[in-house]
Amino acid sequence: MPRPIEAIIHTDALAHNLRQARLHAPDARVWAIVKANAYGHGIERAWPGLMGADGIALLDLDEAQRVRALGWRGPILLLEGVFEPRDLELCSRLGLWHTIHHESQIDWLALHKTHQPHRVFLKLNGGMNRLGFTPHAFRAAWTRLTALPQVEEVSLMMHFSDADGGRGIDEQVDLFTATTADLPGERTLANSAAVLRHGHRPEVRADWVRPGILGYGSSPDADEHDIHHWGLQPAMTLRSRIIGVQHLHGGDTVGYGSTFEATTGMRIGTVACGYADGYPRLCGTGTPVLVDGQRTRTLGRVSMDMLAVDLTDLPASGLDSEVTLWGQGPGGSVLSIDEVARSAGTLGYELMCALAQRVPVHVSHGPDAA
Ligand SMILES: *Cc1c(COP(=O)(O)O)cnc(C)c1O
Repeated sequence: MPRPIEAIIHTDALAHNLRQARLHAPDARVWAIVKANAYGHGIERAWPGLMGADGIALLDLDEAQRVRALGWRGPILLLEGVFEPRDLELCSRLGLWHTIHHESQIDWLALHKTHQPHRVFLKLNGGMNRLGFTPHAFRAAWTRLTALPQVEEVSLMMHFSDADGGRGIDEQVDLFTATTADLPGERTLANSAAVLRHGHRPEVRADWVRPGILGYGSSPDADEHDIHHWGLQPAMTLRSRIIGVQHLHGGDTVGYGSTFEATTGMRIGTVACGYADGYPRLCGTGTPVLVDGQRTRTLGRVSMDMLAVDLTDLPASGLDSEVTLWGQGPGGSVLSIDEVARSAGTLGYELMCALAQRVPVHVSHGPDAA
């Protein structure tokens, strides 16, 4: 028997979550963002849950080829554009739309020989100072692009730095509106946080929205709103089993460094899951975990292959009990990846992207198949 750990990708949850995005931005088209191998879920595995989107957006040309290989004939957008001139050949061949965020990309396009004019998304640096043209340079870039025979259509794009937080998006929306005021073309601004929190504003949802994390069932503003609030379902479950049980007396300790000390008698379980599976080592005592669908807590340090959970109040659980590290548990129980991430001082994004290679992954298409 293999080690009992596994991850499950829930394609029905992916489809459900994308429908939630549509509810918040009803008249916009939806890009499903599948960068980083669909946020760690695996593009091919997640595909049945993603193919209801209007377009697929990603970074890697390799991933774009994989999406075409799945039979997708709809729009594909390269969110960082091309990285060198010869990437444009693949764009021509596969009909990829690409972001233009710096002058060299326009130079390359001007030299590119193609019978297939390209659709490009011109990116405004809205103050995040990662990618994009400054408001000052934006219009000149637009004029240059529209004059190129290699360009069929220019759309307009920006990315928010603070859609999930208190600073908000007002300044950046105003900047985008002012900079693009009299320019034609479709527009796209909103990531997950902007869709859920600000999608009621037509200029924010615009023509296309770009929800990434919400599709995978993690809250983009988890400090304020959990997945239940946003009606999202976890698209990834990480689960394992208890492979050892120990009885502690007051004064006994658990794990490396003896960081947890029992004050009284306790029963604990050892779970076949550790940081080499992608479970964060930074999760200290008290991180929530489900055993047989019941909430309890981790104890002591996470080791490479194992971690400990408190079974004291779960007398029916023991050896071989099912442990849900995050995601969907038995009997409709749910433990959001965001809660585990919070214990590690990070975000659900990082955890799902860091699921380790050694964890076998299975796909579930419905609640009954899990
Ligand atoms: C990753 C990304 C998104 C999606 O962001 P989420 O916070 O996951 O919704 C949208 N737009 C761009 C340009 C991105 O790189």
